[in-house]
Amino acid sequence: MSEQRMDVIVSGGNVVLRDQVCSVDIGIKDGRIAMIAPRLAGGAGKVIDASGKHVFAGVVDAHVHLNEPGLGEWEGFVTGTTSLAAGGCTSCIDMPLNGMPPTVNAASLELKLEAARMSGALIDFAIWGGLVPGNVGELEALARAGVAGFKAFMSSPGDTGEGAFRNVDDHTLFEGMLKIASLGHVLALHAESEPIVSKLAEAKLSAGEVTMRDYLDSRPPQAELEAVKLALDMAARTGCKLHIVHVSTPEAVDLISEAKRSGQDVTVETCPHYLAFIDEDVIRIGANAKCSPPIRTEREREALWRRLANGDIDFVASDHSPCPPSMKRSDSDNYFEVWGGISGAQSTLELMVSEGWKKRGIPLPALSRAMSAAPAERFGLRDRKGAIEIGLDADLAIVDLEASYVLTAEHLKYRHPYSAYENFEFGCRVETTLLRGGIVYDRKSAKSGLEAEQRTRGLRLWPGPSTTRTG
Ligand code: ZN
Repeated sequence: MSEQRMDVIVSGGNVVLRDQVCSVDIGIKDGRIAMIAPRLAGGAGKVIDASGKHVFAGVVDAHVHLNEPGLGEWEGFVTGTTSLAAGGCTSCIDMPLNGMPPTVNAASLELKLEAARMSGALIDFAIWGGLVPGNVGELEALARAGVAGFKAFMSSPGDTGEGAFRNVDDHTLFEGMLKIASLGHVLALHAESEPIVSKLAEAKLSAGEVTMRDYLDSRPPQAELEAVKLALDMAARTGCKLHIVHVSTPEAVDLISEAKRSGQDVTVETCPHYLAFIDEDVIRIGANAKCSPPIRTEREREALWRRLANGDIDFVASDHSPCPPSMKRSDSDNYFEVWGGISGAQSTLELMVSEGWKKRGIPLPALSRAMSAAPAERFGLRDRKGAIEIGLDADLAIVDLEASYVLTAEHLKYRHPYSAYENFEFGCRVETTLLRGGIVYDRKSAKSGLEAEQRTRGLRLWPGPSTTRTG
């Protein structure tokens, strides 16, 4: 092996491995990590100097909305994956809603893949399928066509237009879980109780109470807890593997931990914005920080950090869910009207390292696991993605942990350059991102524009359930 000439060597960096941070070189051959050693002498086509920097496994963001086909005006494969690459992310999984049509059958999956082919992507991607009322019969074809898993909403997703993604009723949820269990796949759930949040919103609206505080109050922690309880119960009865997305309360995490202890196959994610902000920030920032479930109080934020640090929260995902700026405005200052969704995919790694490691002392390997290894393992990508190990794809983020900066709109690569993180001070900065050994982002040359080769470098991943049930 030592005789073999490497295509690329990343030299001199502090490399964040599964259990430790080591000063080692990484040798890359044919897009994969071929050698990890204290010093790889010469003999490479290209040497990338990472001295003084940290090298992380590329982030695997299992929860993004890229909106193509149909709603590329909101966000697209190129702009979405460019911003992910700029944030050190090298694989993402695209949600089945907020594109048109939503990805709820094999034909709409084909349209999604066609949109990705036409636009191009800078990083590797996989696709979620949707579970909605009336499509249980489509799930098997979606599984055969290679979706990463299935996503459903227990509360209304917000868009009530024709053809839009619908939340499941309890019957569809139960039938869907039975089917998904038989396919060996994971069901990802947005868990908020529709009866609770719709009643509270109705009451607020009819009283003319429409401030951001009113919106926050209309989606209380109880709505999340009730939905998580129901979902865990149904998943236990059906044997369906469950993943609860974007959990906002420590109590919901605790319910899930308890289910894990009883042997249930369930995982939980939170988002960087629940770890970065509290309710007072949301009121200060306004529409750009509106999301559901909403951002909670300081008590909840700190309790979520503790659960992330001790491994009770399996991983983080951005839930990047942008829209055109016009949909973030309301002439009547009605915060129930503005689009709920946070634009944040570019900031995951910088946020986690700044706030998790620098401010709270969570070890870098634990943060890396939450950003990369754990989502890769959950969604059938572990043989290629998620860690710096020999044989895996050479997906790397080179990060300067000494650099700090205040994020402004100019830094953002999204289709629409706004974010809840504008004016946030980050304590580190992504310098270079490699996808399968090729550079897809380099901060110093980013202004010169994208090479065609970078633009189409991302490939569709074909993940799958790691074990297939036969029942
Ligand atoms: Zn989402």
